[in-house]
Amino acid sequence: MKFKQILEDIENLKTEFATLYDFVHICPICANFLEVIHNDIICDELAKDWNLSPLQKRFFNYREGCQCKNCSSSMRAMNLGKVIMEIVNLKYNQNIQFFKDIIDNKQFRQLSIAEVNNCGPLHHYLKRHPNLSYSEFNSTISGISSENLMKLSYKNDTFCLVIMSDVLEHVPDYNIALTEINRVLKTQGVFIFTVPYLIERPTVIRAKKSKEETINIKKGSYHGDYFSKQKDLLVFYEFGYDFVFKLKKMFKTSIYAHTGYSGLIASIFVCEKWSSLR
Ligand SMILES: [Zn+2]
Repeated sequence: MKFKQILEDIENLKTEFATLYDFVHICPICANFLEVIHNDIICDELAKDWNLSPLQKRFFNYREGCQCKNCSSSMRAMNLGKVIMEIVNLKYNQNIQFFKDIIDNKQFRQLSIAEVNNCGPLHHYLKRHPNLSYSEFNSTISGISSENLMKLSYKNDTFCLVIMSDVLEHVPDYNIALTEINRVLKTQGVFIFTVPYLIERPTVIRAKKSKEETINIKKGSYHGDYFSKQKDLLVFYEFGYDFVFKLKKMFKTSIYAHTGYSGLIASIFVCEKWSSLR
């Protein structure tokens, strides 16, 4: 897609959502001058399953397909990184500007962190963290532990931060996963994450699991390479506005929609564990 087209789209979005936009010039992750490359990521088949309008499809293409040429961070990764920095800066009175520097921050290094499934380009920096518990679902790779979000092996009250990027939609019962994440967080610990999410519609359940069997309620829909139909990337949920109500029942919740264009399409969820005094 040409840059001119992107600018035209931004103009349309500005009209439709009456919002301001900020096009960042420096990548918040790698701190290089931000040269954006764009690829269409959402194929027609996925958009059809998801019942996306052309505009919603374009939204998700920006979210995933607009990337820093230097570090490959998508808008989703950039916003996730920005919010992690903001939370650390706010909670611990730090002043971290770029994600590449976060790992050298003394305060950040002392936090206990769970990265549940690889957070893309952010993992490149997080992996140097001395107190990081990094896991993948069904990992068979030596050195990478395997965790199931519906049955985490961690003890109660273990982590200051749990970080996750577009995973919950692939979990058979996300309510159980949220309960598990809440359990392993320390009091006032924070769960920072993304899911594909459309605020203008209710959540759609596409599949469920009964015992060990996966039952498709709607046609099987897959993220990643749609046609490789990777089992782990089967979509169980297409999240909508009611998802936020669920979060608010369990956590002290905010949605960080960064002001501007990038925030509009790649919101970040921030959930703090309530103190026991609640
Ligand atoms: Zn970058």
